[in-house]
Amino acid sequence: MAALRSYVNGDWHTPTEDGVPLHDAVTGEEVARVSSAGVDMAAALEHGRTRGGPALAELTFHQRAALLKSLASYLREHRDELYALSARTGATLGDSKFDVDGGIGVLFGYSSKGRRELPNSTVYVDGAVEPLGKGGTFVGQHVCTPLRGVAVQINAFNFPVWGPLEKFAPAFLAGVPSLVKPASQTAYLTHRLVELMIGSGLLPEGSLQLVCGSVGDLFEHLTDQDLVSFTGSAATGQRLRTHPVVAANSVRFNVEADSLNCSVLGPDAEPGSAEFDLFVKQLVTEMTVKAGQKCTAIRRALVPAARVDDVIAAAKARLEEVVVGNPANPEVRMGALASLEQREEVRRSLKALLEAGTLVHGDPDHVDVVDADPERGAFLSPLLVRCDDPDQPQPHEVEAFGPVSTVMPYDSTEHAVELARRGKGSLAGSVVTADREFAREVVLGAASRHGRMLVLNSDDAAESTGHGSPLPALVHGGPGRAGGGEEMGGVRGVLHHMQRTAVQADPATLTAITGQWVPGSPRTTTDVHPFRKHLEDLRIGDTVVAGPRRVTEEDVAHFAEFTGDTFYAHTDEEAARANPFFDGKVAHGYLVVSFAAGLFVDPDPGPVLANYGLENLRFLTPTYPGDELTVTMTAKQITPRVGAEHGEVRWDVDVTNQDGASVAKYDVLTLVAKRPENQE
Ligand code: NDP
Repeated sequence: MAALRSYVNGDWHTPTEDGVPLHDAVTGEEVARVSSAGVDMAAALEHGRTRGGPALAELTFHQRAALLKSLASYLREHRDELYALSARTGATLGDSKFDVDGGIGVLFGYSSKGRRELPNSTVYVDGAVEPLGKGGTFVGQHVCTPLRGVAVQINAFNFPVWGPLEKFAPAFLAGVPSLVKPASQTAYLTHRLVELMIGSGLLPEGSLQLVCGSVGDLFEHLTDQDLVSFTGSAATGQRLRTHPVVAANSVRFNVEADSLNCSVLGPDAEPGSAEFDLFVKQLVTEMTVKAGQKCTAIRRALVPAARVDDVIAAAKARLEEVVVGNPANPEVRMGALASLEQREEVRRSLKALLEAGTLVHGDPDHVDVVDADPERGAFLSPLLVRCDDPDQPQPHEVEAFGPVSTVMPYDSTEHAVELARRGKGSLAGSVVTADREFAREVVLGAASRHGRMLVLNSDDAAESTGHGSPLPALVHGGPGRAGGGEEMGGVRGVLHHMQRTAVQADPATLTAITGQWVPGSPRTTTDVHPFRKHLEDLRIGDTVVAGPRRVTEEDVAHFAEFTGDTFYAHTDEEAARANPFFDGKVAHGYLVVSFAAGLFVDPDPGPVLANYGLENLRFLTPTYPGDELTVTMTAKQITPRVGAEHGEVRWDVDVTNQDGASVAKYDVLTLVAKRPENQE
């Protein structure tokens, strides 16, 4: 059997030794061999830094996002092939979809986030401009730029597709090349995934590399610009995090490790209620999906003391229906563990759990399987443990990484919170209840030890993605035992790969650096109204100044009657005077905004297609009848849309009165057409 090749330095590298055999989890047959012998780790890192990084740096966030989308579509066309290999890891078709489709979903998710929430440029501006001097000549703003190193991604065996894609997508979007190191046990599936990704021809050379087998001396060559994202056991995470080179160079290190996730049944959920059924169903799902080899699976089921018998009886009834065996058989609900070694590991952990409890379902040494040899394949029965003394340490400390959960009683809300916290840091927790006060107390009480918390009840069950599903838009990771890291979480996950720098400068220089107009920078006013300019012709700082327009008492009365907004401050002189903020009747804020629009628009058909919103609107000074309004509107940010016939323009609007005081400030968002010859 040939050893898996690594993809490094722009080429597929065949190991210089036979490698260690990897076995089919179902049949025990050899699937592949793995070794990284002969891979020059220092050169691979350097290739990422000198080829991949610069190639990605040339692309804007939107261009990278578009590539992620194309890549996701390409992989979707090759799903069946990935499912077939995934079955060899012991996964059922449902499990494979979780892994493969889930991973592709992360690419789509990041593509969409990138296009919507990141600018079409290479710099991410983080937060507002901070005035640093009274005269407005000295300001500050935070910018994020990609690290100029490699994102080393060390993955666990349980999600050979989702795991690497979950780390690759935000790194790629940030502009940082990835070096993927799959767990050896299931590396053949990640290997095929990377073959497809490289074969797609979509990715700039150097933006993705693969090392199958050990990382060798890679850590010796890490610099301050590289980062490591690790998923696996706490022990390995700790060893790698304390590597002297990591410490000496302050290498960013994200760990996602062991997690004893809990699910809490609310005291309101009586047997027969929707929440009771949801709790039991979710518990069994989490035990059996991926044969319980999920970092987010429920290990601890916390149940009101009076309901323990009912929950166990209902869970047993469901577990009895679970057919274990060869995933190729469509009847099979639960496949095999990833390897025989993993099964031994789970049996050992179960023994430790049974020091504090009793086994109420399943037999660790025997399981009926369909279409497979129960000894050659890594099959294991679902195993449910009952622990009547939840103050024992074992259920809160021993993670049996397989189809194993422990049911425990709690006495009060405080007790439930205390037990939830005993996991000492978890990736995911859930509370199944229709009692919102209970949900609030458990979520807020346990949140500081959780990365994610799901409240499940009959209101959200139909749409809920479930306890065990990390989502690209939400943070995945957890404190303490879970490693203390954070992955995904939308744009947050991208920013983990970037350096945030506080830039202090004068407004014009800050505008030049960020590409976004900063108040205080020069404005350009010409005879051509900015609304007459196509996207390519518009420049940051292009300005229209219009007015003044006098606001009359009749205007205010008419606006009140016309819109129905007859709030006393606009209609009742005496009442308005009694208001501490006004010296009499004031114009409506919306009248000010409407008059401003009437002043700044250029009415004829032209490149401006639509106004799609206002942001950051603040009314700063009251407008009284007799006041005169002037509006200054300046192009602040210009965002061409990749593959579209238009782009977005953000305008800074400042409405001032006859004294020069700002009456209202806001951003207007418009869609502006590209020149006809550039429309795709
Ligand atoms: P490991 O920690 O052994 O391996 C995780 C990854 O680290 C693998 O890619 C592994 O590669 C790599 N690795 C191991 N040693 C080193 C090293 N010295 N230098 C660099 N890389 C190294 O965990 P497993 O995958 O074997 O899983 C074991 C346990 O981890 C599970 O039983 C479970 O408790 C926990 N786990 C937690 C997960 C989570 O997301 N929270 C997910 C999966 C597992 P190789 O395979 O080549 O050794």
